[in-house]
Amino acid sequence: DGEPASAWMAYGLQDVLTLRQFVQDSNADPAHKRVEHHKLESMLGLCELITCRRHALLAYFDEDSSQRCGNCDNCTNPPEKWDGTVATQKALSCIYRTGQRFGVNYLIDVLHGKTDERIQNNNHDQISTYGIGNDFTTTEWRSIYRQLIALGYIDVDTEGYGALHLTEKCRPLLRGDETIDLRKQTKQEKPDKDKKAATLIRPQDQTLWDSLRSLRSELAEQFGVPPYVIFHDATLHEMIKNRPLNTTDMAHISGVGKQKLDRYGQQFISEIASHPLPPLLDNRLSDTVNETLMLYQQKISIDQIALKREIKVTTVYTHLADAIATGLLPVFDVISLERDEYETIVSLMESFANDEQSRLKPVYDALDQEVDYGVLKCIQASI
Ligand SMILES: [Zn+2]
Repeated sequence: DGEPASAWMAYGLQDVLTLRQFVQDSNADPAHKRVEHHKLESMLGLCELITCRRHALLAYFDEDSSQRCGNCDNCTNPPEKWDGTVATQKALSCIYRTGQRFGVNYLIDVLHGKTDERIQNNNHDQISTYGIGNDFTTTEWRSIYRQLIALGYIDVDTEGYGALHLTEKCRPLLRGDETIDLRKQTKQEKPDKDKKAATLIRPQDQTLWDSLRSLRSELAEQFGVPPYVIFHDATLHEMIKNRPLNTTDMAHISGVGKQKLDRYGQQFISEIASHPLPPLLDNRLSDTVNETLMLYQQKISIDQIALKREIKVTTVYTHLADAIATGLLPVFDVISLERDEYETIVSLMESFANDEQSRLKPVYDALDQEVDYGVLKCIQASI
């Protein structure tokens, strides 16, 4: 819908195991299986990648791109690598010593030296890899095994019991002729969608935005469709920008066709009508200025606004000065000076007008520093 979007993928060891078995167990002919297998390898490779994902994706489709897109998770938050050679040797040896007949959970129990009847019956508490893996947690071992499977060092059995066995690729690693870097497992923060969307919405539009979205959700539920089928976010943005109050204006919003206009138009118009935008707030000033103007609009005093927003009184005046400068606010609404006092200050300012840079400082001094800088800014803005 033309809006910035984020995609995130969650995958774990179980997915790797299931997908591999899925390909192996399918009834497809060997040639088709090889193609599917290759596709799976490429996808797992992409998941475990520690370099730019966009670069890798485009390279897969034979397209050139810069080495770093600056936008994918690996670019914005480069994964830490660690030398996983010793851990890998332990993980692989454990598969080998237990006869390549067991799944990940069992192998990790052996590495942790767990007292378990099954392990004892198999005499796996007697083997050299029993209890040599206590430097890693179960989660960490699962991550190591997942990467080794994805990287093709380990294969999953065809019978579907999830037993792991070694591939030819393991030999140099087990002999110590090769080292391996693994990706450090980090907790990924879920991208904060609301925060991103909020930055596109002016503070004075926030309540209308929220109610248009909840109206959309209600309708979506009522008609049993996803919300974007009712209206895209981009359409709601345009409604907020243009605030159509009748069907003619509503019809001009892109994404509002004849059918949608008939079906939902009136409800959205009513919602917009119940959130009128005061002329003062109909501006393109910055968010922080508008936060101040919203409070000012509610007849809250300048001192109270400063307290509420935890900013200086002078800053509040500076914000109001922006509104005065754009003609949204009469200066005498803001400052409590008599007309002649105001005129005096204006002529003072004009007399210092050559001194462009620091015009206010000499005025401030000439007034014995008794008039707030912010008030001076408001007066300056009104000239
Ligand atoms: Zn990237």
